[in-house]
Amino acid sequence: KEQAREKDLPEAGKALPGNDIDKSKNDVLAGKVSLWRGDITKLKIDAIVNAANSSLLPGGGVDGAIHKAAGPDLRKECKDLNGCKTGEAKIAQGYKLPAKYVILTVGPKGEYPADLKNCYVNSLTRALEKNLRTVAFPCISTGIYGYPNENASHVAIHTVRQFLEEHSEKFDRIIFCVFLDVDKNLYEQVLQTYFPV
Ligand code: ADP
Repeated sequence: KEQAREKDLPEAGKALPGNDIDKSKNDVLAGKVSLWRGDITKLKIDAIVNAANSSLLPGGGVDGAIHKAAGPDLRKECKDLNGCKTGEAKIAQGYKLPAKYVILTVGPKGEYPADLKNCYVNSLTRALEKNLRTVAFPCISTGIYGYPNENASHVAIHTVRQFLEEHSEKFDRIIFCVFLDVDKNLYEQVLQTYFPV
């Protein structure tokens, strides 16, 4: 019920860049995003984003990998965070990870673009609050949660573009950390759409 309400929000879906893209910022913003393929737990940056579940307790996929690499102290901190709703984001320390912080966000189960957009906006807002300047995102919701990869890549990249237009001076780099061939290929294409050089 609740999810049906969100499915058709035009703004959060695969809207191609138009009036909401400030072309004068293309050069600056293109230098602020990267595509990197590999294990997000290896990144020595300010924050990595975890595609968590609403309990914030260790699950599978990228969540399992992050908890495994961070060690049990992350689970302990997460236990005290009282869970997280879909689209929201919370922050914890990185513990044994090379990254200083883990931002925990809960993606939608299925294709709900407004929720997925909120994951990116709220994760970047948590980073902003702590002056974290380098942040990496996995392909939220596109694994176990089943969001179609191509549409998810549009929401991810478009939302980051919009956020950086407002806050570019607060970030050095946003990394899209892809894990699969399909996402590497998609992101290479879709980044050109929203971050033309
Ligand atoms: P969700 O439940 O939100 O769908 P998943 O963890 O199942 O989250 O999948 C999200 C994405 O993370 C998928 O593209 C998956 O291939 C990818 N992934 C899995 N392990 C890692 C990892 N160690 N580093 C980066 N991405 C990963």
